[in-house]
Amino acid sequence: MISESLVHLGEKKSGIRELFEYGLRQAAVVGKENVYDYSLGNPSVPAPEEVASIIRELLEGDSLALHGYTPAGGAKEAQQAVADDLTQRSGDTIRPENIFFTCGAAPALVAVLRALAVEDAEFVAIAPYFPEYQVFVSYNGGKFVEVPPDTKNFQVDIAAVERALTPHTQAVLVNSPNNPSGVIYSRETLTALGALLERKSAEYGHPIYIIADEPYRELVYDNAEVPYIPGIYRDTVICYSYSKSLSMPGERIGYVCIPDSVTDSAKLHAAVAGASRAFGHVCAPSMMQRVIARATGLRPDLEAYDKNRHTLYNALSEMGYECVKPEGAFYMMVKAPGGDAHAFSERAKKENLLLVPADSFGCPGFFRISTCVDPAMIQRSLPAFRRVLQD
Ligand code: PLP
Repeated sequence: MISESLVHLGEKKSGIRELFEYGLRQAAVVGKENVYDYSLGNPSVPAPEEVASIIRELLEGDSLALHGYTPAGGAKEAQQAVADDLTQRSGDTIRPENIFFTCGAAPALVAVLRALAVEDAEFVAIAPYFPEYQVFVSYNGGKFVEVPPDTKNFQVDIAAVERALTPHTQAVLVNSPNNPSGVIYSRETLTALGALLERKSAEYGHPIYIIADEPYRELVYDNAEVPYIPGIYRDTVICYSYSKSLSMPGERIGYVCIPDSVTDSAKLHAAVAGASRAFGHVCAPSMMQRVIARATGLRPDLEAYDKNRHTLYNALSEMGYECVKPEGAFYMMVKAPGGDAHAFSERAKKENLLLVPADSFGCPGFFRISTCVDPAMIQRSLPAFRRVLQD
């Protein structure tokens, strides 16, 4: 017998993947340059050059050590480098033992969710949210609870979060800079959220954790502040990834950070290690850990993303689209003219313009565009944006 629910999960593609694959098929028909694909969040600028030289240097060294297993939580030098970097940037004291290396943010999130998935556990996600949260929560023993978006400015509707909390709430997923909106939650928003969770944790007699999903932490523009959430709310666990911040999503490297301030931090760390072990984690890629040990300060060319952000925001706004100005990440939310994002996306497809309806992000009526694209494609796509608006 085979698990029907997993067959279903394995066969069902996400809307984003379907659109992307449609684009590949269309490219074979109309030519690659005539398809304007805004579907995927795949970095469009290469990893910093230094990454290649670090890898070359590492390959000159002791091959057995480089490619060997590391402890499950990570190589000491890599944990130390991340701890030092976080300590220096946040003012908090992070020790190497607070860091558990994972194969990116996705398994980091799954490990934390599983660690907290006690009986009847509920996990709250604030729309718009990364659609995979639904899968991660519901296939790992939790109940997915959704907070509707605050479409005024895509900050957080605190009263709506309060309505979603119950004595079974184990954690709230917080993703800032946000995929899909590109919005950064302000210090004011996070302080209000922290105060609410403190009050509700006291009322329910157990901590409600924040799971801070931060793969876009370094992708910010105009020097916008990304507040350090554990400094605002002590029961915060960070899930981080180098997929976007070093432009290497295929290399699968990230970590969970559980600061000492977190309630039962050592126990939670052990549960994250246990959850990882239970789904077959042995260690994060050894060579990538050694790269990270030397690369915590490196960033890709953020100016390229910033230029795309300006070009798209300015051009679409001028045409009459209502756009939410992103402050970080590489996405932008746009209000679907006519109100039905699916219908609009279908119309756009006729122009070979691939726009993701944000319904699966918990945000109907909007579509998401990824701004991590070739700038020349943006220029070629603008007439199509104009035409579909006039249809
Ligand atoms: N969380 C968010 C909000 C994301 O957008 C993504 C990837 O797009 C992930 C987590 C997963 O990232 P990773 O490649 O590190 O697993």
